[in-house]
Amino acid sequence: DYFERFSVPAEVVSFVNRPVGHFIDGREILSAQDAIDLVEPFTQRMLTVLATGDLQIVDQAVRSSRKAFDGAWGRLLPLERQKLILRLAEAMEADADFLAHLEAIDVGKAISDARYIDVPGAIANFEYFAGWTSKLDGRTTSAVALPGETLTYTVKESLGVVAAIIPWNFPLQILSWKLGAALACGCTVVCKPSELTPLSAMRLAQLATEVGFPDGVINIVNGFGHVVGQALAQHPGVDKLSFTGSSAVGAAIGKTALDSMKRLTLELGGKSPVIVTAKADTDKAANAILSGIFMNSGQVCDAGSRIYAHADIHEELVAKLKAGAENLPIGPGLDPQSKITPLVSANHRARVLEHIGSAHAQGATLVTGEGKDIPYRQDNILRPTIFDRCAEDMRIFREEIFGPVLGVAWFETLDDAVERANSSIYGLAAAIYSQDVDETIALSRRIKAGNVYINAHGILDPAMPFGGIKSSGFGKDMGPEQLDGFLTTKSIYVQL
Ligand code: NAD
Repeated sequence: DYFERFSVPAEVVSFVNRPVGHFIDGREILSAQDAIDLVEPFTQRMLTVLATGDLQIVDQAVRSSRKAFDGAWGRLLPLERQKLILRLAEAMEADADFLAHLEAIDVGKAISDARYIDVPGAIANFEYFAGWTSKLDGRTTSAVALPGETLTYTVKESLGVVAAIIPWNFPLQILSWKLGAALACGCTVVCKPSELTPLSAMRLAQLATEVGFPDGVINIVNGFGHVVGQALAQHPGVDKLSFTGSSAVGAAIGKTALDSMKRLTLELGGKSPVIVTAKADTDKAANAILSGIFMNSGQVCDAGSRIYAHADIHEELVAKLKAGAENLPIGPGLDPQSKITPLVSANHRARVLEHIGSAHAQGATLVTGEGKDIPYRQDNILRPTIFDRCAEDMRIFREEIFGPVLGVAWFETLDDAVERANSSIYGLAAAIYSQDVDETIALSRRIKAGNVYINAHGILDPAMPFGGIKSSGFGKDMGPEQLDGFLTTKSIYVQL
């Protein structure tokens, strides 16, 4: 069978084949509620069942995290917290192959990506934030309008209990984005993974307990978003909601969270534009564009999905994109050769297919990939698909597709390219390709987006903040900018 064909280690097989519960107070518990089927994306076979949490389970997890915050975790010195976070990173390194297998099996993603991007990215994030535990300083200030002698200073305090809601496309990495900074700041966290991809979060919680994290610092509650996610957004014991997911859910859950005045970070969807100027190196641009859209089979929030190519290089670029896309190895996630792998679920594949159908119907020109009649595929894969002659009013240029579908258009003036690039409701990321440094820097300042990549796409670093504007949300993950999301500043006045 599939797992034998790719020699999946026996301990991974037994981890994914047993019923998956919640992780609360240092141990896994199964709840009595109905379970969700966990389906492996390539074979479409049921792996196991996932417990579905309810209000009572969420309440139990939040209380446990509060107890840890007020108790064992809250009492640790910053350097002790740092040591534990580093120990977790070390344990993940020792467990890297296990974690990579879980991501490939759960998401269906390429195991080579899981090995070289997801797992090391998550580890680096913990290593980076471990160093911040000891540097969360306030400031002293000279009062400017107070008569007499006054000492004024600020202190940074941990916010409290954080709820982290995670999507399915990078389950481990995005979890690490939330956990790294939250733990560094002294918060405790109740995590809700996507109901499609809970496995790596469960493993991480296990590792954290093994290396000595006090019970309740990292709790995991599984189940449906509209039940468990909603319950977390409503729970009065949660101080901060950090959500990554779609803009529609983000807007709804944000309103709920504000009813109880929770602090809020929303990392949402995107439709990231890519400008390729007449001065681009089209070989390099084509390579980076292909990885920017087809990595993780297009299920990437900052995927560069709208190309604006200068008229002079447009045809040449499209020919290179076509050749490159047709060369990408397609296959199961567990095959180390695969680059294009199954989409996360049959439902999601159907959604992406609907978008491809609309691009055909609205008159975009198919360059390569899926035609109008797409056969049913048991393996849940869609071939990398490129459309040219896309127009601003086509859905392919307006809506997030979250699959291996790229749209291309051409432009004549940079002003026009910038205007069209900025015309989206989203503002997560953008990319610019040109060998002229002045041109790239100038363009980067005119683009409305949280992240701008120059001659690259999707390269991330833990020291750099990530997060969008407009319908892509607000607040940052990663970088020092993320820390303020988990801290509160207290102002202290001393009349001398
Ligand atoms: P989603 O919004 O459907 O789900 C995200 C999470 O929210 C899941 O855990 C889900 O169970 C939960 N959820 C769903 N409905 C809920 C509700 N009513 N109340 C509370 N929680 C609820 O998104 P998805 O399909 O898992 O992920 C894809 C989306 O995530 C895309 O739009 C993508 O752009 C976005 N994303 C953004 C970033 C970023 O950093 N900006 C990163 C990755 C993914």
